[in-house]
Amino acid sequence: MRAYPYRMETYDGAPEPSTEPDAEQPDAAQPAAEEPAAEEPSKLLPVAELHLHIEGTLEPELIFALAERNGIQLPYADLDELRARYEFTDLQSFLDLYYANMAVLQTEQDFADMTRAYLVRAAVAGVRHAEIMVDPQAHVSRGVPLETCVNGVASVLANSLEEFGISTLLIAAFLRDLSEESALEVLEQLLAMNAPIAGIGLDSAEVGNPPAKFERLFARAKEAGLRRIAHAGEEGPPSYIIDALELLDVERIDHGIRCMEDPELVEHLVEERVPLTVCPLSNVRLRTVDTLADHPLPAMLAAGLNVSVNSDDPAYFGGYVDDNFVQLETVLGLSEFDRVRLASNSIRSSFADEDRKAELLAELGHS
Ligand SMILES: [Zn+2]
Repeated sequence: MRAYPYRMETYDGAPEPSTEPDAEQPDAAQPAAEEPAAEEPSKLLPVAELHLHIEGTLEPELIFALAERNGIQLPYADLDELRARYEFTDLQSFLDLYYANMAVLQTEQDFADMTRAYLVRAAVAGVRHAEIMVDPQAHVSRGVPLETCVNGVASVLANSLEEFGISTLLIAAFLRDLSEESALEVLEQLLAMNAPIAGIGLDSAEVGNPPAKFERLFARAKEAGLRRIAHAGEEGPPSYIIDALELLDVERIDHGIRCMEDPELVEHLVEERVPLTVCPLSNVRLRTVDTLADHPLPAMLAAGLNVSVNSDDPAYFGGYVDDNFVQLETVLGLSEFDRVRLASNSIRSSFADEDRKAELLAELGHS
């Protein structure tokens, strides 16, 4: 598994991707005419990335560049020492490093640079629409004003279609290990400042922080006309998926892989076409599955579940959406038919407007 998709000698806002730079050629959406050679991955399909934490795109090179710009002393001597910390034993061990690294994000420019770096890389990965989560509480709690974080990310997203060919929406995700009061307070601030958010999400440490804890938050978001998603069934039990749907009235489940332990739940999710934003490389890195070969994605597809493939926190988990697809093809033998189905699911399950969805589906060859 390739640990880092690109390297930046010095950060200039335009990381050099390791994949072919001509990936956005007009025929990228068409199925390959010939069976690709084993060494040569299939062409990229246009996809929507629905499960992406912008803080999880913070590459080690950018962490060092921002630390230098802000005069922050990192607890790592060099890039290699930082990279050595990327061996996780579970979700919490990842979260500890993830939050520690956020210390380098101080100014609007920092948030904007991080966002721009993701979009540059995502464009190469075939992403044509992205719904990007930001964790406001993770920044407010360390003294960064809410406006700094939201405006920094939003300023780049505002021109993402023109600049990168990627339509985008911003989602404010709340940390489930904090209190509902804290989440409600930040949500009210976001609404008061008229923040350009399309919806809310629920992330961070799942086990012991069930959906029921956030019923008032999600009711308030619904009342305010916001879309609703939540992480559930990653490390937490299948009952968290049921509760997220029933108590929080979410429109999508992030991860959801543990639904496979409950056949009745699978039947319900298939019937209702509930989107599950699956993140295969993330699941391997966080040991939710032992190896990619053990991943339930093929079984989920076979069951008729509405699954898509996403990168979650790509800087930490070994790759972006294209890396996930390449690995799925190589390790699990994912077929062209299934790749197109996953791409189509991602577009249909997005919160993009109908015109944009139709445009992307036509590009995929599914009008
Ligand atoms: Zn996630």
